[in-house]
Amino acid sequence: MKQYNFNAGPSILPQEVIKQTADAVIDFEGHGLSILEISHRAKYFQPVMDEAEALMKELLNIPDGYRVIFLGGGASLQFCMLPYNLLEHKAAYLNTGVWAKKALKEAKAFGEAVEVASSADANYTFIPTDYEIPQDADYFHVTTNNTIYGTELSDEKLQQIYDKLGKVTLVADMSSDILSRPIDVSKYGIIYGGAQKNLAPAGVTFVIVREDLLGKVSRHIPTMLDYRTHIEGGSMFNTPPVLPVYTAVLTLRWLKNLGGLEAIEKRNIAKAELLYKAIDESKMFVGTAKKEDRSRMNVPFVLKEEYKELEAEFLKFAADHGMVGVKGHRSVGGFRASIYNAMDLEGVQALVDCMKEFEALHA
Ligand SMILES: *Cc1c(COP(=O)(O)O)cnc(C)c1O
Repeated sequence: MKQYNFNAGPSILPQEVIKQTADAVIDFEGHGLSILEISHRAKYFQPVMDEAEALMKELLNIPDGYRVIFLGGGASLQFCMLPYNLLEHKAAYLNTGVWAKKALKEAKAFGEAVEVASSADANYTFIPTDYEIPQDADYFHVTTNNTIYGTELSDEKLQQIYDKLGKVTLVADMSSDILSRPIDVSKYGIIYGGAQKNLAPAGVTFVIVREDLLGKVSRHIPTMLDYRTHIEGGSMFNTPPVLPVYTAVLTLRWLKNLGGLEAIEKRNIAKAELLYKAIDESKMFVGTAKKEDRSRMNVPFVLKEEYKELEAEFLKFAADHGMVGVKGHRSVGGFRASIYNAMDLEGVQALVDCMKEFEALHA
């Protein structure tokens, strides 16, 4: 039976990207060697790294003055690498979920790190707006999409942030919504994320960094944690994650062929609308995030109180219908469907049909 992959991460990749990756594992672009066994210094690989940066710049419309680097360590290492490189006196964080909170915790080791607002008391079901950004902060950190709670900074909320930034540098964890919609990169100093949600298999982290921000802190930065090392080394100071970078290039080519970020945004809106409409019309299911802050990438929902005892049954029913990875995160419960770029409308329709069928049987 066809399997529909709603995993939160690592997660769905386009079928053609998976096939092309498999081909390269056997014979990398006709060179007669597997991509697993070539040197990253070989002449074959340099063009891959160059294309990865070039396609990120092209698709995200990244202005001059920025570099895109590919590192190991995941978004979680960026929680510490970022303040290492940027925090001199003070940093400000918007606490919209567990990942945001973890980022804030790391910053505290490097200086004053303030939480400007938090929705923790409401189990992160919304994005707070009632706060000021301290103008003496070295940067202000946001998580644009909260993978676990299914909230996302809408274009309106992003604009509100841009409007109150003043001269403070904006930094964003975009692990789970990078490349899902156009974004004005010029508003940001640094954008980072683990690539395993929307771009590549696990093992590579992207960092988009405005070069003029670097070299300003007075502390010594260990070589491997200094962004400048990886900029100067062209993401090859040490051995890069060769295979995930190659798959990222394939995904970026796929996105470009599809029409880029405007096209994928339209598709993502259509998918999210289809699923949220089904949830809102359901007698049985209910969404957990505040409507205006709903994520287009991660859709958490639960059973209404009177149907709560059917949770395990729905999970089994969904699995029997080929729905993979719809169990909710333990901190929200219920269900979560991650509908990243590579999920198509047909897959979301299959989930909606499955939910309706289950409801017809039990409600
Ligand atoms: C998954 C995720 C992370 C953690 O990424 P790792 O690469 O596993 O460290 C951080 N932030 C967000 C928003 C995420 O979705």
